[in-house]
Amino acid sequence: MSLIETARLTKKYNGNAAVDTVSLSIREGVCTALLGPNGAGKTTTLNMLTGLIKPTEGEIDFNKNYAGDRRKHIGYLPQYPKFYGWMTGEEYVSFSAELAGLSKKKAKESTNKMLSLVGLEEDRRKKVSGYSGGMKQRLGIAQALVHEPKLVILDEPVSALDPIGRREILELMKTLKQHTSILFSTHVLHDAEEVSDDIFIMKKGKIIIEGGLSELQQKY
Ligand code: ADP
Ligand code: ADP
Repeated sequence: MSLIETARLTKKYNGNAAVDTVSLSIREGVCTALLGPNGAGKTTTLNMLTGLIKPTEGEIDFNKNYAGDRRKHIGYLPQYPKFYGWMTGEEYVSFSAELAGLSKKKAKESTNKMLSLVGLEEDRRKKVSGYSGGMKQRLGIAQALVHEPKLVILDEPVSALDPIGRREILELMKTLKQHTSILFSTHVLHDAEEVSDDIFIMKKGKIIIEGGLSELQQKY
């Protein structure tokens, strides 16, 4: 069953299509990679799915079981998240939970659960300014998960990290995909191959290749 389908989704800036008639289907319960070089239109696509920017043309259809406020069903980690360094990790996640509309009690419970899921329970009372890149990224993932969305969208979740940080996040994504659907962007084929089930390859605003990982590996 698909979670989101787009039909001829298009975003133009000054007449140029950053995303050009993209029709894709995101399956539920799997990890999907949007793979492509810088400037391909990945961030713009993700921002349209989250509702942060409006398409110029085309449609986005959500599975009707998840109709309503899109933010409730989607968790998002932008490529360059703003972390408030003066907050502790715990404050940051519970603040995000309250912004997502959780009650104080539910926010606290969920914050505990997600910090432990991403392996930050021991560092939860430290200020975010002292976190490593990998820790910040794990915190960003905890924040994206805190309202238990159907789909988590991660924009280039490993591209800014050193090899150790990359490894941490890729392993975490493998765990996460057992609990929730994931859509992430990357410019690294190997990352897409390692964690995703479905891959969409994007170039110059268009999807040029799509399919299941094993199917693509046989074909190319
Ligand atoms: P990717 O995430 O694959 O690197 P982007 O979606 O960020 O690609 O960008 C796709 C294209 O759209 C690029 O050429 C980029 O410069 C352009 N673009 C993105 N956002 C804007 C914007 N707000 N205004 C003008 N051009 C933009
Ligand atoms: P990515 O690394 O995913 O391509 P960018 O660095 O291109 O991301 O984009 C970062 C931010 O700048 C995004 O909000 C994007 O919409 C905006 N942006 C990108 N290209 C342009 C552009 N040519 N003009 C204005 N804004 C842009």
